Amino acid sequence: MKIVVATKNQGKLKEIKAILSDEKYEILSMSDLGIDVEVEENANSFTGNATKKAVEIMKICNEITLADDSGLVVEALNGAPGVYSARYAGEHGDDLQNNLLLLKNMENIENRKAKFVCAMSLAFPDGKTINVEGEFHGLIDYEMKGTGGFGYDVLFYLPEYGMTSAEISAEEKNKISHRSKALRLIKEKLQNIKD
Ligand code: IMP
Repeated sequence: MKIVVATKNQGKLKEIKAILSDEKYEILSMSDLGIDVEVEENANSFTGNATKKAVEIMKICNEITLADDSGLVVEALNGAPGVYSARYAGEHGDDLQNNLLLLKNMENIENRKAKFVCAMSLAFPDGKTINVEGEFHGLIDYEMKGTGGFGYDVLFYLPEYGMTSAEISAEEKNKISHRSKALRLIKEKLQNIKD
């Protein structure tokens, strides 16, 4: 079974290949198929964005297509930055400014509960879609710590490790992250289809 991954992010592609690749699934990237399309992420939910990306790319390649959308949800900020996580401070992908704004907005707030959410959608050429979500729970720290990871990892404190997700190893994060949980759910769904 061929599965096209609707991402240009090599890190995500590698993680997806590591979990899904086996004799049953051939994982292809958009660049493997010469597709260079930017899908606008303008839905108001992670699942809405993931489905939109999966369906648009599936329509171009006519193969089963997997897409994801993820972000940080902070309880005391009514779910912000949510679908705006990558551009919270204005500019897309400015991790430092995003983290500084998050720290500012969390000043004097005691409830530090937060989660990363990853929505994944599979779009099939017959029009069917499958959606799953994985969550990764933690607390917003009071200062940035660690040099690993990306995005908000420097502020995402994991009480069970006594460290942020930028301080634990990449292997450890990949075992417990929202993305790996969503991917495992996708794998289960694919196995159910085949059985
Ligand atoms: P996207 O799913 O690539 O659009 O990611 C959206 C944004 O959510 C990223 O730019 C990060 O700011 C944030 N984010 C998603 N997953 C993680 C993670 O594992 N660690 C830190 N930040 C994340």
